Amino acid sequence: MHTTSTTHGDGMKLPPLIRRFPGIGDAIPHRSLGSFPTPVERMETLGGRLGIGSLHVKRDDASGHPYGGNKVRKLEFLLAEALDQGRKRVITFGGAGSNHALATSAWARETGLSCTAILLPQLNAHAVRRNLLMHLRLGTDLVPCPSFSRMRLKTMTESVKRRILEGRAPSVIPMGGTSPLGTLGYVNAGFELADQIEAGLLPAPDIIFLPLGTMGTAVGLALGAAAAGLPSRIAAVRVVDNSLANMDNARALFRATNDLLADADPTFGTHELSPDRFMIEEDFFGGMYGRHTKEGLAAVDLIRETEKIELEGTYTGKALAALIAHAERGILAGKSVLFVNTYNSRDFSPDIAGLDWRRLPKAFHRYFENDVQRVDREFAGRGED
Ligand SMILES: *Cc1c(COP(=O)(O)O)cnc(C)c1O
Repeated sequence: MHTTSTTHGDGMKLPPLIRRFPGIGDAIPHRSLGSFPTPVERMETLGGRLGIGSLHVKRDDASGHPYGGNKVRKLEFLLAEALDQGRKRVITFGGAGSNHALATSAWARETGLSCTAILLPQLNAHAVRRNLLMHLRLGTDLVPCPSFSRMRLKTMTESVKRRILEGRAPSVIPMGGTSPLGTLGYVNAGFELADQIEAGLLPAPDIIFLPLGTMGTAVGLALGAAAAGLPSRIAAVRVVDNSLANMDNARALFRATNDLLADADPTFGTHELSPDRFMIEEDFFGGMYGRHTKEGLAAVDLIRETEKIELEGTYTGKALAALIAHAERGILAGKSVLFVNTYNSRDFSPDIAGLDWRRLPKAFHRYFENDVQRVDREFAGRGED
């Protein structure tokens, strides 16, 4: 077993990936943070509505307290490495409303690490406001950054500043938690899903829908599914610019993640990201990261009404819109379909109630002074703000 930071205390079950390939557990630190396996549930009402016989949801939204969603699986590896290296602080980045930055701050705190989040401008939404307020509650060190091109410089200066102030360099966590190391979290999810299929909790999915951002989630799941022998195709619904999310980058990440695993445990083997098992859905992006679409927000409303599940407009609404569009074309009728809910469902509104946004750094005030984007406004007449 690896060093102090690999903590699987008494009764704590090993992640299925490490159980199957002990060499991985020996070589790569992992720290249990979330609640796994996440449940799979049948969505009978929504499935009926869409004419899909077998529609399930994997509840990665419920992956843990204080904050769930897809980033928890990645952070189990990323924060374990930071702790293993004796770091005291992590630095990460994202848009102003980044779920990743929030998840990193929340889980860093749980493990005794401090967190600096370098945040870029993004389109306004209710979810952006909520996440910024939660940073205030968590005490994240928030650093506004005007543009993507300045982010590298900003990270370097923050890193040097902390090194001088705190006597050690912080650990830099990549955007979206996506590096080969972070992606292991979703390779593990593929094995977790295979176990749930074997236990009879759901049929092997013919097709799995999920959002495609920095790609660690979809690519990790594709590798995990291939390695676990699942027949599933992945429909990865692109929600960021195609200069970031594309087949070439997906292949490179797949290969680098596979190499990391095979170096740690050669019995893991070598797998291929085949284009008929991994499809990038291009038609639901809406032209800009964080820009809500009518189809996306209609999907958010439909799953709330039928299954009482809360999604959002930047990632999960667009992924579900793709699933709905496929169903409407009649191509999912006899299929077994899985939707991965990657969006945190833990309601933290009690934690942010009464917080004054004026205590945020000035650059973030505009998200509270200005209105949310129009489509969010129209669809959000639901008293959620
Ligand atoms: C970050 C995020 C994603 C995208 O995951 P990637 O691994 O970056 O592709 C999907 N859904 C939600 C809710 C997210 O916060």
